Amino acid sequence: MFKRMQSLQMQGVHCFQYKSYRAIIAIHNTRLGPALGGCRCLHYENENQAFDDAMRLARGMSYKAALANVANGGGKSVILLPKSPVDRQELFSWFGDCVEQLQGQYITAMDSGTQVADMDVIAQRTQYVASASNIGDPAPYTAQGVLAGIEAALKFKCQKELAASRIAIQGLGHVGMSLLKKLLASGAEVIVTDQDRDKCDEALQLGAIVVSPEDILSVAVDVFSPCALGGVLTQESISGLQAKIVAGSANNQLAEDDLGDLLMAKGILYAPDYIINSGGLIYASSRYHHASDGILQQKISAISDTLTHLFFQAQKANCAVTKIADETAQTILAGEPLIAEKLTSHRKEVHHAA
Ligand code: NAD
Repeated sequence: MFKRMQSLQMQGVHCFQYKSYRAIIAIHNTRLGPALGGCRCLHYENENQAFDDAMRLARGMSYKAALANVANGGGKSVILLPKSPVDRQELFSWFGDCVEQLQGQYITAMDSGTQVADMDVIAQRTQYVASASNIGDPAPYTAQGVLAGIEAALKFKCQKELAASRIAIQGLGHVGMSLLKKLLASGAEVIVTDQDRDKCDEALQLGAIVVSPEDILSVAVDVFSPCALGGVLTQESISGLQAKIVAGSANNQLAEDDLGDLLMAKGILYAPDYIINSGGLIYASSRYHHASDGILQQKISAISDTLTHLFFQAQKANCAVTKIADETAQTILAGEPLIAEKLTSHRKEVHHAA
């Protein structure tokens, strides 16, 4: 356990237990501010899997906050959902007490397996919660950031506008459906899929082309946008991809870290997930810290400049964008203000050039 913590450079991992409830709060880094990250409430096959999930996701949140210029660190929590039915009121009241014990080092939010109603229960026990019903749904802001990222990637890789592009979306949930509407409004041709037939019917009505979940990975498009689950980019799926760009909201899209190299070798431009999907974090952090709408919009529109900067850096260094992105986040977290300043000045240059 300590070896794994060390390899991921974790600041701390906190374990809590009450009756049949077990929870882990993983804090990766708080140099930029208190750790902010969602709470997953899922069945895990074993404890190691749960620890690993919490720690990897917490590190991802640190990188996301660092590159999104958000005054928060990275953390994530995991509740190991028992096999027997649970009293959610009791479970999330208890979990709220766990968060409270850390006295603001960690701020929780919604994630897979948790809902706004659960966050409202947590909010009765602690103030350190960023997605209770008074804060609202971050998904439209995540979609806004993904749209900006897709535009930046199209410009860099294909010198194309959205209106002249073909884009495939996998998953029509909160983010995917919002993204679809924005893309159709921009004049793009959009091909979609979801496991849920009703969502596919809704997309068809809106003007999208619907294909089966099996076919979405191999449609010939400019952009493949994964907006469903993580781990969708494997050696096998990458070899079948007919897209020039991968740019979507799903967390942990790469099944293994080094698959960024394979995408590069295939000539596919990859917009790192934790950068392109940071609109939701920016929204939650802004609302939590009572920032103005102007600052919120400024930070979301900076996503495209950050990506463009990293695309150029990766091209110059002839390496995968993922490598440059990870290194940049690590340098910011290690306390190198120079890199953050460089990103800011690059954003200003891009902004003036546009
Ligand atoms: P969601 O649960 O609302 O939607 C996911 C959709 O994907 C569902 O409609 C589901 O039916 C579909 N789906 C699942 N597996 C599929 C498959 N194999 N093929 C086709 N469709 C499939 O989730 P969401 O909030 O829209 O988030 C989507 C992704 O973006 C997740 O990975 C999430 O972690 C990530 N993300 C979301 C936000 C946010 O603001 N909601 C922020 C950052 C990252």
